[in-house]
Amino acid sequence: MNIESISKLKENFKLRNIEVEYFETLEEVKSNILNIIPIECTVGIGHSITLQKINITNYLLERGNIVYDKELAKDRDECKTLKKKALITDWYITGSNAISIDGRIVNVDHSGNRVAAITFGPDKVIIVVGKNKIVDTLDEAIKRVKNISCPLNAKRAGFNPPCVALNRCVDCVSRERVCNSLSIIEGQSDSNRIKLCIVNEECGF
Ligand code: SF4
Repeated sequence: MNIESISKLKENFKLRNIEVEYFETLEEVKSNILNIIPIECTVGIGHSITLQKINITNYLLERGNIVYDKELAKDRDECKTLKKKALITDWYITGSNAISIDGRIVNVDHSGNRVAAITFGPDKVIIVVGKNKIVDTLDEAIKRVKNISCPLNAKRAGFNPPCVALNRCVDCVSRERVCNSLSIIEGQSDSNRIKLCIVNEECGF
């Protein structure tokens, strides 16, 4: 990303009450997260390949935070419980499927827990976004999540909607559909609730 695009992106999100910080590496993002979240706070984790790369759940657990991450579940029931508990944490950390330079955060979810937590619940939300997720406009962001994020995430999770074979969305109503919730965050009423950590690396889908 060039400097001009980053400052335009920062400016547009600032107008929508969303803070943006730019990082060169994911390791720098990890240090920042560990610095700003107090040890006594509870933390929810939204599933993210980007976050798995920096092993943030283990770092937080090892130093004493209470962490609700569905990846720690032993079975389906515990997975659901962890997803619910993550909705009322002090902090929530997740990735995103796309953000646009014009100031929108766009995500799709299978069960909806991640988009719910980003929308309301946790007091503070950190969203880590690699440079590959940044597009110019809201339309491009929606196209990205439907035609890139969905097929790749469906394949990773073992689902087989039509986009897996076609590499494009055909607006299916398959029982294997992975994009049951499409969320567009246009802004925040609480300033500084959402912080976007933009990283100059390719991260996730
Ligand atoms: S609607 Fe169906 S084909 Fe389109 S992205 Fe979602 S799961 Fe894939």
